[in-house]
Amino acid sequence: MEDNKTPRNSRRKCSFCGRSENEVGFLITGMNGCICDSCSEQAYEIIQEAMHQKKDAPGELNLKELPKPKEIKDFLDQYIIGQDDAKRYLSVAVYNHYKRLLQKVDKDDIEIEKSNIIMVGSTGTGKTLLARTIAKLLHVPFTIVDATVLTEAGYVGEDIESLLTRLLQVADYNVAEAERGIVFIDEIDKIARKGDNPSITRDVSGEGVQQGLLKLLEGSVVNVPPQGGRKHPDQKMIPVNTKNILFICGGAFDGIERKIAQRLNTHVVGYSAAKDVVKIDRGNLMQYIAPQDLKSFGLIPEIIGRLPILTYLNPLDRTALRNILTEPKNSIIKQYVKLFEMDGVKLEFQPEVFEYIVDKAIEYKLGARGLRSIVETIMMDVMFEIPSQKAKKYEVTLDFAKKQMGKANISRLQTA
Ligand code: ADP
Repeated sequence: MEDNKTPRNSRRKCSFCGRSENEVGFLITGMNGCICDSCSEQAYEIIQEAMHQKKDAPGELNLKELPKPKEIKDFLDQYIIGQDDAKRYLSVAVYNHYKRLLQKVDKDDIEIEKSNIIMVGSTGTGKTLLARTIAKLLHVPFTIVDATVLTEAGYVGEDIESLLTRLLQVADYNVAEAERGIVFIDEIDKIARKGDNPSITRDVSGEGVQQGLLKLLEGSVVNVPPQGGRKHPDQKMIPVNTKNILFICGGAFDGIERKIAQRLNTHVVGYSAAKDVVKIDRGNLMQYIAPQDLKSFGLIPEIIGRLPILTYLNPLDRTALRNILTEPKNSIIKQYVKLFEMDGVKLEFQPEVFEYIVDKAIEYKLGARGLRSIVETIMMDVMFEIPSQKAKKYEVTLDFAKKQMGKANISRLQTA
């Protein structure tokens, strides 16, 4: 390359396309040659394409490296109070999902089937938290979607396929990766059939949506709009096979306890059943949930059949609320201590303050979600003042907490 010897010479040429400096927009000089703007653009595109192809092959999973069910549960224990049954079910299901992804169809022809999960429990008992926490531990794409936005094709709302759009997005549009991901569908109870007789009126958000969802749960190739929704009618659909996607559904199923109670009552006939009846804990009927209760609630049997793992979450009692405040690895109180620490202030609470916060959460029926807004209300003025003061330590006393709550607008808290 003669030009290399005289890089400052106006006869410099691009070593790739051979065009001279005045024929191109810009010329970059290297040790032994030059490259023009359009050649470097092309080079960039080639690299991008090559990288993409490499990425499309999903990364290897290794059974030895995978967290075992017990390890998954131990991890969940750090963040979520109680809910042991749900944790165990989830841990096993996620572990089996990995095993399923690893299975090679061999001589014995035993194919491990997918076990989608359904979690039933009142709002604010930790369903989403469980799903989010497990996502932290996973090596597969994971997303949370809401079933309330779904309606039957042709109606206002989102098509079923759009549930997978988010999964594609978190997998960076790598279809092979997305095809082995996990989708948490929240508020699944909202697509239950409303009445007992579905044929009287068109049930836009009920049975039709369930039929659509069935296709996804069963495992089939569906065309997913890459941008979601119907706002981009021209977008090219991406075919995604849902055969290996694990679906975890969650819902509050308000009033399902009545269905459980009915079933338990009608089933207790005869001597042996009468013995069982003594053991029934009427305060927490959710623990007896069975697939037929979901059917009575309005889920179609086909959907229930595709969600073979059914588990429940307990309502949160006083002790649970008290523990949620301080025990989890990133509990609300620990977060506040950390916030103050960043200002060089050691934050402390009188123990009675915690009891008071729990009292208020129960009194206003705010549940675990309300704990944060109550702490926020108590701490607001201190958070405003302290950073500008020279204090090294601050103690939140019961009197102070009561005073702050007295000033607060309770109706604002209740909508929190
Ligand atoms: P759900 O999905 O069941 O309606 P969430 O998981 O969204 O409820 O819970 C709401 C909030 O309440 C969580 O972000 C968390 O702060 C708190 N919370 C609820 N249940 C628990 C629990 N068992 N352990 C720790 N925190 C909890």
